[in-house]
Amino acid sequence: MKELRDAILEQGFGIGHDIVKVDMFLNHRLDIALLNHIGQAFHEAFADEQVDMILTIEASGIAAAITTAQAFGDLPVIFAKKSKTTSTMNNDVYEAKVYSFTHKTENYIRIAKSYLPSGVNVLIIDDFLANGEAAEGLAELVRQAGAHVAGIGVCIEKGFQAGGQKLRNEGYKVVSLATVTGIENGKLMLAGGEAQA
Ligand code: 5GP
Repeated sequence: MKELRDAILEQGFGIGHDIVKVDMFLNHRLDIALLNHIGQAFHEAFADEQVDMILTIEASGIAAAITTAQAFGDLPVIFAKKSKTTSTMNNDVYEAKVYSFTHKTENYIRIAKSYLPSGVNVLIIDDFLANGEAAEGLAELVRQAGAHVAGIGVCIEKGFQAGGQKLRNEGYKVVSLATVTGIENGKLMLAGGEAQA
């Protein structure tokens, strides 16, 4: 997606050899026009799939999940929570363990069982795909519910990490709208093509 690639090149930067910072439009400040186009691009990419709801993980996946849900005609969005707040969430949850690449910690992610019915077709949306831990955890929640993963859409795939290959090898339809192929002295290298399935 050219508009996203341009934003990454113009406003993003790399930290060390493996962290991509795009706080200017995706992870802190939100560029709503760009996010709307991201939602439309996911809708186009998954137009052949039956999609009943969108699943993401808090916090940075939520914006793109919302615009994708709108592009599909206002589908429901559910986001997995990273902390268990006893006041708002009882024990009737699906949960999966996820290793956080950015925080280097292991967390449980959870969703209330009542919001993910069995048999529904779920499109997983996230901001980044690195080692695939978040997407695998979300797919595990879908599996526990007896629902079906219609596909996995990520705004930015880090092609130099193993997640994309792993998920595709497992048979998931994975679509990334931009792929960072490497970081050199803070500069981001991007793959040239359109959405990579
Ligand atoms: P994975 O679970 O695929 O290893 O990593 C994806 C998750 O970690 C995403 O939910 C995203 O929030 C975060 N993440 C991984 N790599 C990066 C990165 O380079 N930059 C940012 N901002 N987040 C990342």
